[in-house]
Amino acid sequence: METYDAIIIGAGHNGLVCAAYLLKEGYSVLLLEKRSIPGGGATTEEAMPEAAPGFQFNLCAIDHEFIHLGPVVEELELTKYGLEYLYCDPVTFCPHPDGKYFLAHSSIDKTCAEIARYSERDAAKYREFIDFWQRLTQGITPIFNAPPKSVVDIVGNYGWQNVENLFSTLGGVNKTLDLARTMLTSPKDSLEYWFDSEFLKAPLARLAAEFGAPPSQKTIGIGSMMMSMRHSPGMARPRGGTGALIKALLNLVKDLGGEILCDRSVERVLIGNDGSAEGVRVADGTEYRAKVGVISNIDARRLFLGLVPEATTDRADPALRERLERRIVNNNETILKIDCALAEPPRFERFNHREEFLVGSILIADSVNHVEEAHALPSMGKIPDANPSMYLDIPTVLDPSMAPKGKHTMWIEFFAPYQIAGKEGTGLKGTGWTDQLKNRVADRVIDKLADYAPNIKDAIIARRVESPAELGERLGAYKGNYYHVDMTLDQMLFLRPLPEIANYTTPIDKLYLTGAGTHPGGSISGMPGRNCAHVFLQKQKPLNQVLEKATELFK
Ligand SMILES: Cc1cc2nc3c(=O)[nH]c(=O)nc-3n(C[C@H](O)[C@H](O)[C@H](O)COP(=O)(O)OP(=O)(O)OC[C@H]3O[C@@H](n4cnc5c(N)ncnc54)[C@H](O)[C@@H]3O)c2cc1C
Repeated sequence: METYDAIIIGAGHNGLVCAAYLLKEGYSVLLLEKRSIPGGGATTEEAMPEAAPGFQFNLCAIDHEFIHLGPVVEELELTKYGLEYLYCDPVTFCPHPDGKYFLAHSSIDKTCAEIARYSERDAAKYREFIDFWQRLTQGITPIFNAPPKSVVDIVGNYGWQNVENLFSTLGGVNKTLDLARTMLTSPKDSLEYWFDSEFLKAPLARLAAEFGAPPSQKTIGIGSMMMSMRHSPGMARPRGGTGALIKALLNLVKDLGGEILCDRSVERVLIGNDGSAEGVRVADGTEYRAKVGVISNIDARRLFLGLVPEATTDRADPALRERLERRIVNNNETILKIDCALAEPPRFERFNHREEFLVGSILIADSVNHVEEAHALPSMGKIPDANPSMYLDIPTVLDPSMAPKGKHTMWIEFFAPYQIAGKEGTGLKGTGWTDQLKNRVADRVIDKLADYAPNIKDAIIARRVESPAELGERLGAYKGNYYHVDMTLDQMLFLRPLPEIANYTTPIDKLYLTGAGTHPGGSISGMPGRNCAHVFLQKQKPLNQVLEKATELFK
């Protein structure tokens, strides 16, 4: 049996980041990936080689913000391994049905000037709003970059600037209480407090809802930070697509002697006589042994309900399986993904089209209620396609290398239910999704986009539509949940995915968790991978690490 120090189940970007940190410390690492290419939700693929040869598509993630709040790119020196980030400016365009539009530049001044064309008050408020969220983000970033239950690590991450920013949002008792109120409230309530204009509130609600819940949902007030991050640290895309981040990580991992085996779906975590994890078995029956630990890049529910023997889990924690099954909330919302090869980019004629509209993300969000419907209906098993809201990008405007010369690609994300109500037991995996249905929904999404950009239908050379059920199969994610676990406050920080397994460790010795289903959550950040590696390493030499950290604090 081949033996390594650490085996990682899944080669998503978090698995790769985790591997890189372990390799740097001298551990031998094997990553086992079920797909034929690594990367999970961070791949770039020539997805239609016959209908659209030479067009490269980001099948999932495209816009990277969170990774710039952490040290992963610098610490792992990923630019040396081929990663180059291209920053979007403008960052967001949202046309409004009445002819107004929201255009956010990277510069707050320029964005305020755009808003002031319609409302001086909202422009002034926007400046205050962004300033508040930027200070708060700066103030809490050290928490994202540490294991959530490791107070020494969290405190050690705080520099003077973070402390100053945090205290500026806390202030006195009443200010602190009001901040708690902001966290407990919904993005919708928050936006109502700050702004008057619908053309501004709607895109901000749409971005806040990227946390995967309707804007009216209480406790995701923090979703408002999504717009402020586009100003700082900024919104960027790797040159060549998100897959270029994976390529850089692969170069690094291989350079450090790590191994990645694709087409290896892990079916079982092997347990030793002492009850600890000692390896894994893949679908073809091959077994691999891990001397120091097994790390899961897939979520805890899949891991414990699918891969770990029931009796082992029950012996370690008799309540865990039921808590994973019933305590973790999944709101049934996921994505119907549309990728198109285009002969020309969309043109927003009614809005005096400018090429710069297409650089960042384009939001079709007519009102806060429009966004509300887009997220509330999927949680009831309904498809919000009567009047589709969507998030789209034309990546080739910023990076023409992703398509043949003069041609473009279009990336559309449309929120949809995983399980369609009333269609249980039909379609793919019993979800109700069929090829016919996904194409019908995609037609409606494109129809809606054509209301704003009338040339779009004629511009499409080829398209690929992936239903929520197909996306779930591709990613191996529970009910297509690309964040692995919903990103609501009750499942964040030291509650993610459950308090008893929130610090990347599990009740089974030598079995660790990383990935989007762990703190600080989904999206492209690499933080769960880095934090998990830190805990793994600390477990091997606990005293040394704590002493090092304590010494740093007194420097
Ligand atoms: C359509 C879409 C758009 C998105 N857009 C953005 C965006 O613009 N910006 C952003 O920041 N985030 C975005 N996200 C979210 C982001 O892609 C994910 O949160 C992130 O990729 C999660 O990374 P991960 O490494 O934790 O897990 P994953 O990427 O899910 O990786 C898990 C890996 O495990 C593998 N695996 C699963 N089961 C097994 C098994 N049994 N054996 C072996 N391997 C297995 C999978 O194939 C996968 O490679 C988007 C997601 C989707 C679906």
